[in-house]
Amino acid sequence: MTNEELWQIVLNEVELAVSRANFITWFKNTSINRTAPGVATICVPNGFTKEWLENKYHKLIMRAIRTNCPEIRSVDYVISTLPQPFIVEKQKEPESVFPEEQLEFQEFSIDTETNLNPRYVFDTFIVGSFNELAYAAAQSVVKNIASLYNPLFIYGGVGLGKTHLLQAIGNAIKQSNTNLQVHYATSERFTNDLIAAIQSHEPQRFKDRYRRFDVLIIDDIQFIAGKTRTQEEFFHTFNTLYENNKQVIFSSDRPPKSIPDLEERLRSRFEAGLIADISQPDYETRLAILQTKLASKKHEFPVEILEYIASVVEKNIRELEGALNIVSARAHILHKMPDMEEVKTLIAQIISKPKWIITASKIIKEVCLFYDINERHLFERSRRREIVKPRQIAMYLLREDFRGSFPYIGQKFGGRDHTTAIHAYEKIAKNIKVDKKLMDEILLLRDRIYEN
Ligand code: ADP
Ligand code: MG
Repeated sequence: MTNEELWQIVLNEVELAVSRANFITWFKNTSINRTAPGVATICVPNGFTKEWLENKYHKLIMRAIRTNCPEIRSVDYVISTLPQPFIVEKQKEPESVFPEEQLEFQEFSIDTETNLNPRYVFDTFIVGSFNELAYAAAQSVVKNIASLYNPLFIYGGVGLGKTHLLQAIGNAIKQSNTNLQVHYATSERFTNDLIAAIQSHEPQRFKDRYRRFDVLIIDDIQFIAGKTRTQEEFFHTFNTLYENNKQVIFSSDRPPKSIPDLEERLRSRFEAGLIADISQPDYETRLAILQTKLASKKHEFPVEILEYIASVVEKNIRELEGALNIVSARAHILHKMPDMEEVKTLIAQIISKPKWIITASKIIKEVCLFYDINERHLFERSRRREIVKPRQIAMYLLREDFRGSFPYIGQKFGGRDHTTAIHAYEKIAKNIKVDKKLMDEILLLRDRIYEN
């Protein structure tokens, strides 16, 4: 088994055990190396990932590795931004805390009462046309708590600033109204608290806890999809807060109507306030984001490098930051800015989406999960609207992203004629130009298809 194969298997197992958000946050850009007999070294992109994996996920990683490769007896972790530089890194260990990593460590100074991270403030939030609606709405909520947009529902793809914006609202409210009880939780945390309360026979404590907040912020609400008991409890919590004139703020990776397995009454609650989306920043905005983020870096970045990063890292502000960090870490080790060729290699690690991962079945699977339909229905002759649209989108993506031929696509969908595939493709291609919602859905879908 090669290192890549081993790590892929381990990642598959880890993915089952942790939430998607945690999986992406902590396991992205990691790799494994076997350094000595019986020893495996996990390479991680930065210091806080290292710490986090060591402290939180070591057991899980160890178990998955040992199941697949019993001869490995110990696992260690190193910060490594290049494929195999960790020997160099090891010698340099005492130096390896970069200034920007110390900044990242602020992640751990989360306020225990509000659960807010002081790092996320409006001052550092860059506004462009891609997020100005969400930003304006966020500002209004701070000025008009529970009176203007309630609830506020912000949605957008991975790494586009939802958490930053939600927490900035919380921090700003807390700053100007110290007496208000503000609380931030991921929907996962909310669910876990609920389960813990039920298990310890103290459901009332849970209710009291969540219903006393003046401002409740729930991040990534899409994860309550399909969790009936959580939705039930959430509905009551929401109603109590709302009736008592408290502000509620949500984020999600998609609009309420696209969250599958969501109780109708909850969906209509989400839709009752303001829904604002964050789309993807264009090239100029990406460059502006890089320039702003650069202010906190020690090294001067030549403009070609910034332009290069802005042109290739297109979808995700977290990846833009990651690209700056990786280049800046390299500059720190080299004591000078890496040249363009090396920058290209470094960045490729961040954005590389191995082609083989985009399979037809992956596209179909993600489309079905996204629209919450059974794969079987996609291939049947059903003309139901809730099936026709996902089917056309799947055909569109098979053509556009997978580059499948029309006869292949027609065949794949229950032996249809190739003209059906052409029709579906052209229809979606035409509609996304005029229907922003459809465009957003497809972008979100692509996020999921290309993730990992
Ligand atoms: P999401 O919750 O949508 O996945 P995050 O809020 O975690 O995304 O953002 C990812 C990273 O990008 C964070 O470090 C965040 O500070 C940064 N970021 C996102 N949007 C902006 C923005 N508009 N201005 C500055 N930084 C941003
Ligand atoms: Mg987030």
